[in-house]
Amino acid sequence: MSETARTRAPGATTATSGTGDPKGARDRTKGPRVEVDRGRCVGSGMCLAHVPAVFDQSDRDGRVLLVEPLPRAGVVPAVRAAAERCPSGAITLHEPGRPGQDLEEE
Ligand code: SF4
Repeated sequence: MSETARTRAPGATTATSGTGDPKGARDRTKGPRVEVDRGRCVGSGMCLAHVPAVFDQSDRDGRVLLVEPLPRAGVVPAVRAAAERCPSGAITLHEPGRPGQDLEEE
């Protein structure tokens, strides 16, 4: 089960940066899509320490919240590192062009 940290308006896209940076928006559509499994999360907080632009932690239960499922290209290496180091394997990166290939499976 996945959860997104912030509710987006119906029809809103996650492919825009919100900074007016059209190149950043294009980069996001080419990069991995991030998914978190809050049921597996043990609330270590490691991921948000690595990439606070992508991950946050719930004040209610301490588990991960996904802030940005389509991270900009500049933070993708840090997102990969966070996924590799997550103690519960709760973070999955879905790589474009590689259907069925998740970081967990490599
Ligand atoms: S690193 Fe993993 S276990 Fe720790 S808060 Fe993030 S998703 Fe949860």
